[in-house]
Amino acid sequence: MLIHTVCSVAFYCQRCGQIHIQDVPCFSGHQKFVLRCGNCSYEQARISVRPRKGIAIEISCGVCGTKNTVTYPLQILRRMQFEKIYCGQDQFELGYIGHWQAIAEFLDFNAAEYEALHPGDEDNFMGRQQILLEAVNRVHDMAEDGEIACPCGSREFMADVAEDSILLECVHCGSYAVFPAGSAEELRCIGPEFPFEFLLPDRVWKR
Ligand SMILES: [Zn+2]
Ligand SMILES: [Zn+2]
Ligand SMILES: [Zn+2]
Repeated sequence: MLIHTVCSVAFYCQRCGQIHIQDVPCFSGHQKFVLRCGNCSYEQARISVRPRKGIAIEISCGVCGTKNTVTYPLQILRRMQFEKIYCGQDQFELGYIGHWQAIAEFLDFNAAEYEALHPGDEDNFMGRQQILLEAVNRVHDMAEDGEIACPCGSREFMADVAEDSILLECVHCGSYAVFPAGSAEELRCIGPEFPFEFLLPDRVWKR
């Protein structure tokens, strides 16, 4: 049997949040190429294929901005069915690597789970990572537009991602606001009207 691909990968687009499975082709020489989003063609990752050695994937985290490089030797890739790729800094799920079929089954499973909870609403399906990414983008935009101010007067924040929420922490006083982002409904609430409050261990600020 001829091997035409090294493996397949799927990454959440850091701009539009969509995810597509793509093959990493098997070249005869050393190759480096850019993987782009199938929807908005935003750059997702850079992949280096080294014949007989394996691949290296450079991918930035849309949440913390860290540039991650993950490498997979060929022997590992041959046996790999499905693996998640995380940001080394904040453990945000960046995407998946392995066999096309295994990745497709994982993504279908998530869609089916959503369909079971929201029958007839499959057009609105967003994966958990897509919701978190979109929430981070919204919170970033609000902070950049000066719509969020800490009670201490600061408008400088650090965003962090928890399991199903975004934390925005003031870099000056350490107060933080929590934006729930566990569902599409919660995501829709994140905007200029969002009734956020800043918390400190010993007191609660209210806007
Ligand atoms: Zn995109
Ligand atoms: Zn990260
Ligand atoms: Zn502050």
